[in-house]
Amino acid sequence: MTDPAPKKILIVEDEPDIVRLVKLYLENSGFRTACAHSGTEALALVQSEKPDLVILDLMLPEIDGIDVCKKLRNAPETALLPIIMLTAKSDESDTIVGLELGADDYVAKPFSPKALVARIKALFRRLERAERQGQSPLTYGPLVLDPLRHEAIVNGKEVSLTAKEFGLLEQFMCHPGRVLTRDILLNTVWGYNYYGTTRTVDVHIRRLKLKIPLLSNAIVSIKSLGYKLIDQ
Ligand code: CA
Repeated sequence: MTDPAPKKILIVEDEPDIVRLVKLYLENSGFRTACAHSGTEALALVQSEKPDLVILDLMLPEIDGIDVCKKLRNAPETALLPIIMLTAKSDESDTIVGLELGADDYVAKPFSPKALVARIKALFRRLERAERQGQSPLTYGPLVLDPLRHEAIVNGKEVSLTAKEFGLLEQFMCHPGRVLTRDILLNTVWGYNYYGTTRTVDVHIRRLKLKIPLLSNAIVSIKSLGYKLIDQ
């Protein structure tokens, strides 16, 4: 059951050469494209073009990429819109900020358009797989995770999670009792091309436990391997 219409990708970047190159590669790969050259234009085109994914440069005139990302994540209709951020090479603070804001993936500049296309395809595959699998709510004691509504509820009260925290919790609840290595978690939640360190996983799990205290004893660290959710 594949979507018959080619996916539309909004390229948000103010450097015309990069826009031209990315547009060319995407169209040669069968995607439809729209281009925005500023943050303001990006927000307008998300409304009018309804893209399936946004490639978002961080450095933009008027409204920068971080604020565009924030605005998209805060609006219910675009809260889950896939976003791939273009970050300055090896600028870790950009990546951390992007991670906090819930970008789905990152590509550091300068990048190869071919690699970017591969990332986009991987992200779409991941999302389609999640959509196929994640139809019914998962439960663990008083915790209910509803992948369709993207809601985590404990004792009837909703807990606000970031996209990554939610993704991690979903992995644990889909595989209770199984040890999930940091690499598996990185691959499934961040994507196999993600170049971050496995420490990212530790940081997110710590935050998840702070938000949902019942997990602090339920998700256990297994020596140097990874983590598991204790089977009830
Ligand atoms: Ca730029």
